[in-house]
Amino acid sequence: MFISELANIYSKKPYLNNIIPFHEISPQLELFINQEVRLGARNLNPYRFSFKFAHNPKDVINLFIAFSTSNGPLKRLYRYDCNECGETNILDDEQLKNFKCYNCSSNGNLETKNFLEDVRVIFEIKEPYLRDVRTRLKDRASSDKQEGRIKSGEAKQSEVSLKEVFDMNKNDKSPIDNDLLELEAELMHRLSYGLGHI
Ligand SMILES: [Zn+2]
Repeated sequence: MFISELANIYSKKPYLNNIIPFHEISPQLELFINQEVRLGARNLNPYRFSFKFAHNPKDVINLFIAFSTSNGPLKRLYRYDCNECGETNILDDEQLKNFKCYNCSSNGNLETKNFLEDVRVIFEIKEPYLRDVRTRLKDRASSDKQEGRIKSGEAKQSEVSLKEVFDMNKNDKSPIDNDLLELEAELMHRLSYGLGHI
């Protein structure tokens, strides 16, 4: 289900094959998603995937952007630790555009250039796909031996920043996802407004 959705995206955006061909990435992603969900994850980390399958992280971020357009099987969420109170805020596009901390109602450090680096992008597996993977894993569990936990050596890779995602969206000058370009334009507008009013 997840993979057939990816096939769909590749057929609409054939240039993705120049980044990583579908026949190469589809078995890798299938393996990865099964392992991650088995470990209890709901998100796919592009750095972890790159590390595991020796891809250039930039290429993987390009693809994850394509997989998280509005109809894609992944959903982009944004994590921001409030610079006033330290509260971790998990936000969608609209909440990010109008950021106000859950806890202290601060507007965050939008007026500083670091904001885009401080916001981390989470690629969450949308609910129907997550359910599908869990069901398949359960069916297999009886015949399958549990795979080992993540080795401590390959501990947590860092998360992608919003700045990187904006940069990687401009693949060969034309954006992979127009919605992301709009989000960038709105945030940059607020940023430049903020910078002009210090
Ligand atoms: Zn706060």
